[in-house]
Amino acid sequence: MKLQTEYMQDLMDRVIKNHPSQPEFHQAVQEVLVCMEPVAKAYPEYVKAGIFERMVEPERIIIFRVSWVADNGDVKVNRGFRVQFNSAIGPYKGGLRLHPSVNLGVIKFLGFEQIFKNSLTGLPMGGGKGGSDFDPKGKSDGEIMRFCQSFMTELSKHIGADTDVPAGDIGVGAREIGFMFGQYKRLRNEFTGVLTGKGLNYGGSLVRTEATGYGCCYFTQAMLETKGESFAGKVVVISGSGNVAIYATEKATQLGATVVALSDSGGYIYDPAGVDLKLVKRLKEVERKRISEYVKERPDAKYTSGCSGIWTIPCDIALPCATQNELDGDAANALVANGVVAVAEGANMPCTPQAVEVFLEKGILFGPGKAANAGGVATSGLEMSQNSMRLSWTFEEVDEKLEAIMRNIHRQAKAAAEEYGEPSNYVLGANIAGFLKVANAMYLQGVAY
Ligand code: GLU
Repeated sequence: MKLQTEYMQDLMDRVIKNHPSQPEFHQAVQEVLVCMEPVAKAYPEYVKAGIFERMVEPERIIIFRVSWVADNGDVKVNRGFRVQFNSAIGPYKGGLRLHPSVNLGVIKFLGFEQIFKNSLTGLPMGGGKGGSDFDPKGKSDGEIMRFCQSFMTELSKHIGADTDVPAGDIGVGAREIGFMFGQYKRLRNEFTGVLTGKGLNYGGSLVRTEATGYGCCYFTQAMLETKGESFAGKVVVISGSGNVAIYATEKATQLGATVVALSDSGGYIYDPAGVDLKLVKRLKEVERKRISEYVKERPDAKYTSGCSGIWTIPCDIALPCATQNELDGDAANALVANGVVAVAEGANMPCTPQAVEVFLEKGILFGPGKAANAGGVATSGLEMSQNSMRLSWTFEEVDEKLEAIMRNIHRQAKAAAEEYGEPSNYVLGANIAGFLKVANAMYLQGVAY
């Protein structure tokens, strides 16, 4: 995916120069700019107003020290980040990631993608992302709490229900959101919807836990329907075994498919009879154990260390739900050779540009993360609405809204892809549809940021 015009190539060169050594950010920007070439031609006023230049530069970046005390009394120091990327259509919105691989470039790539994803949901949310290089693995509940409190002590100065509303991402679930919410309330003495993904007893929304995985399946189902297909009777491979993977497994199974594989950062399990989701939930959500433990209780399943082999398992549908760049060109070719019909990104940017090229070239239904995993943040948006109204909707009400939002995202992406001459290219469609709404808002608001 190369840039064709001098204008976009110059812009890309400047991004690389101004944000050195941030390959994930460059990758995310390059993908969007490739899709923006026909848009720049169709909207010369956006070029003149510097919209493309403004879009790739975050409005604000906050970097801070996070000191906390380990159980043995040692003081530890981590780095905290919040990238407030774009507030044209609503308060900054996006998750917090706690993982040793986190650095400024990773948070910038995630914040950049969040702008377009949030726009596609149709809800009034800008784009942001944050996190820390803190590694939650092996930490006690007390250590997690002290880290979260210290992290929030600084973050609280920069967020607010109408300013910036963080949520979970890798390494941040209900436990961490609870500790952070408690600390925010203690510091500010106010009970507001400043975070989403909260517990159900203190302002959380039903379906938020399930939303990213469910949404990914709703989007995939909409893609399959364009070919007269569905999940029924299909074999599905899903990477990851966190929140997204678990609830993608649940929904795919409810829709009649058999999910045969899951993974974590150590390796993957293959269970041809269909994974035992109850067991996975216990191991991962309650006991916080490795996926390798699965085969101890399901002797017919096989565990393989290392992650990339998961894509050599024959399947009809592949849902990468683990992390960025986990599925490369070779893996894409293996999936295609085994007859895959649809691939949808439950994680953020799990497919490398080479993999995406393979899927598009071979005419595989490919749902990019901005569209396919938008269900999580969409339901966060619904949580914000419920908080503002001080009421809670039922599970069925939220689930219905989630499905409608995912189908609407599919419709928008498809329509934009058709309008720009590549009807089956959801990457092009999602980027253009997501971009145009934000660009128009920036244009109408004048030269602010
Ligand atoms: N971290 C999720 C994402 O990548 C959800 C963000 C949110 O709910 O704000 O979209």
